[in-house]
Amino acid sequence: MSRRALITGITGQDGAYLAQFLLSKGYSVHGLARRSSTAEVNTARLKWLGIENDVRIVDGDLTDLSGLVRTMRDIRPDEVYNLAAQSFVKSSWQQPILTGNVTGIGVTNVLEALRLEMPEARFYQASSSEMYGLIQEPVQSETTPFHPRSPYAVAKVYGHWITVNYRESFGLHASSGILFNHESPLRGIEFVTRKVTDAVARIKLGLARELRLGNIDARRDWGHAKDYVRAMWLMLQQDRPDDYVIATGRTTTVRDMCRVAFEHVGLKMDYHLVIDPDLFRPAEVEVLLGNPAKAKAKLGWEATISLEEMIREMVDADLARHAAAKR
Ligand code: NDP
Ligand code: GDP
Repeated sequence: MSRRALITGITGQDGAYLAQFLLSKGYSVHGLARRSSTAEVNTARLKWLGIENDVRIVDGDLTDLSGLVRTMRDIRPDEVYNLAAQSFVKSSWQQPILTGNVTGIGVTNVLEALRLEMPEARFYQASSSEMYGLIQEPVQSETTPFHPRSPYAVAKVYGHWITVNYRESFGLHASSGILFNHESPLRGIEFVTRKVTDAVARIKLGLARELRLGNIDARRDWGHAKDYVRAMWLMLQQDRPDDYVIATGRTTTVRDMCRVAFEHVGLKMDYHLVIDPDLFRPAEVEVLLGNPAKAKAKLGWEATISLEEMIREMVDADLARHAAAKR
């Protein structure tokens, strides 16, 4: 019998890549997805990867405990990956309570359903480098204190500690991956890398003239989602559950990331980039830089795709999308 995995957030960037990865390992993959009146909304990313018919989608929402209990009972997963969240930092100031309910309390709902129905299953929580926020150490590791700077990050800190607490209280095999920003052609268009690569593609094709950004001095430790979903799986293959930082160990400004995208298509960034004060955040995370030494030592994990390779892949994918739409 193949191993069964349940992925919450399967319709998102990481959910799609993780589903693809687990299918390649022979898992039977089940995904929790919110019902949408437009079916294509749910399957767009899975379709892009060509796996929409290989996974089983179950209707569900992280705020609905009874539905989660029923899902655990029906599927009886060996591994549960909790990737669902209101994941966009900027929206979290606009929707702080929803963000708390989904990104924070939603984690407890999944853990409760697991504890009640499948306590022997292994659990992964998608924690975030945003928890470091106003950084307390220049390079952040598993022992760096958190100082969250947005309702999203506050909710993620709760989700992180409730995962640790259920491990310590009930002996669940519950691990938390503190993942630094990771991107891909499947990244949501509202995040800065994809916003940039999409705009660069449109400018190149004559469909747009400018790109408006906020704080381009912010620095992030950016990796590729394909590398990062492998780390999630590795955590659940360990005998003991634990917490791990997943990062590249290199930090880059938004400005320099953006320049890579423009240069890839032979355009000058300065001709097209406009700074828009409305895009600055009420509280900013100025710099993030992770230390992935523990993941390397214990999981044998390392990032394999550079920022430059990833941004070029994303620009090419956006060029292809817009060129196809033009035809
Ligand atoms: P996405 O925003 O692409 O995906 C989020 C997923 O959560 C979507 O499938 C979305 O469904 C689902 N979702 C949202 N609300 C609910 C709800 N109430 N009930 C059920 N499902 C819901 O995020 P990513 O794939 O990029 O990230 C995956 C996880 O990792 C998230 O928890 C994110 O916060 C975290 N993370 C991501 C990082 C990154 O750089 N990508 C860094 C660190 C952590 P729908 O399609 O219907 O909207
Ligand atoms: P985050 O790290 O999860 O908030 O990921 P984002 O990709 O949304 O933002 C990364 C950084 O880019 C943050 O410091 C933002 O302030 C900065 N940034 C600058 N301009 C923009 C913009 O137009 N959109 C987004 N999303 N971020 C921007």
